[in-house]
Amino acid sequence: MRYPLLQIDLNKIYQNAKYIVEFCKSKGIDIAVVVKGFNAIPEVVNVLLKSGCNYIADSRIDHIKKLVESNINSSYMLLRVPMISEIKDVVKYVDISLNSEIKTLNEIEKECLIQNKEHKIILMHDLGDLREGIFNENELIDVALYIENNLKMVKLYGIGTNIGCYGGVVPTKENIGRLQEVSYKIEERINRKLNIISGGATTSLTLLFKDEMPSKINNLRIGEGLLLGRDLEDLWGYDMSSLHKDAFILKAEVVEVKEKPSKPIGDLFVDAFGNIPTFEDYGIRKRALLAIGKADFVFYEQLIPRIKDIKILGGSSDHLIVDINDCKEDIQVGDILEFEMYYGPMLHLTNSSSVNKVFI
Ligand SMILES: *Cc1c(COP(=O)(O)O)cnc(C)c1O
Repeated sequence: MRYPLLQIDLNKIYQNAKYIVEFCKSKGIDIAVVVKGFNAIPEVVNVLLKSGCNYIADSRIDHIKKLVESNINSSYMLLRVPMISEIKDVVKYVDISLNSEIKTLNEIEKECLIQNKEHKIILMHDLGDLREGIFNENELIDVALYIENNLKMVKLYGIGTNIGCYGGVVPTKENIGRLQEVSYKIEERINRKLNIISGGATTSLTLLFKDEMPSKINNLRIGEGLLLGRDLEDLWGYDMSSLHKDAFILKAEVVEVKEKPSKPIGDLFVDAFGNIPTFEDYGIRKRALLAIGKADFVFYEQLIPRIKDIKILGGSSDHLIVDINDCKEDIQVGDILEFEMYYGPMLHLTNSSSVNKVFI
């Protein structure tokens, strides 16, 4: 085996996705499975498609293009508001995109006419998280009417919101309820129903758990909540025990085991990334050095050692340093240590060419 290695359990991912998709279906909500968190690895997308989800969604057009070119048939949703410079590919490879700018919509219309292809859009409403979307409700209605009345190939498929990703705003029945209210107003003005009212990402699942989701919301875009299932349990306090938390496991090799002081010797200045580190003095401790580093996972504090008494001390570009002093296991040079993870390392490890991906 080539290490470091990221073990990806396709069956666990499938079961997680199926569980979330069926739970949401039972509440009248269809799911766009968001695959950007693992860089849209085709083997994983393939099993996710079998979960019964309605769309595969990603923020990056190169990911969607890769999937289409791998002959993975699905409806594709582009999550990041498109760049004008990528519109050709957006029209070619994507079925539905999230949008917020008339200038961009006009460019999409032009490209649709060239390719003789329709394109569906979800118009985004910013409910206070301050990332993408039209903030003012009347302006949102005006743009919706503009699409409906002036664009031929660009179809107003629905409206949506994103919440919790930038500003950390909590989804509530009040703020998501405002999306429902404006959907009624738009439907009245265009004299037809919108197909999609998309009420957010993983954090919006909390409203379903509490049975507080406004009834008109019929779509969510879920990534973390079905890939790892950790945030809702560890950060939000919901019981997610029906989900596998260990579908992604990092395995890295120990290259040094030594007893050393816990506090560096000499005057302390900055580390390799310009941060000023601080250390407590716990005396001489046994520690292990692993052959994987921030270049691969970026956030060492989001790795979770599978052996309880291992404590992560930190890392540099190419090393992970762990305290193994209190470990019952006799860890030796050449041993493989395993880690579970939160979102950050999943995102980066799946993208690191130094990390061997192994599917089970
Ligand atoms: C990334 C993203 C999601 C999915 O977020 P998760 O927290 O992983 O569920 C949903 N919608 C948009 C617009 C996104 O960019």
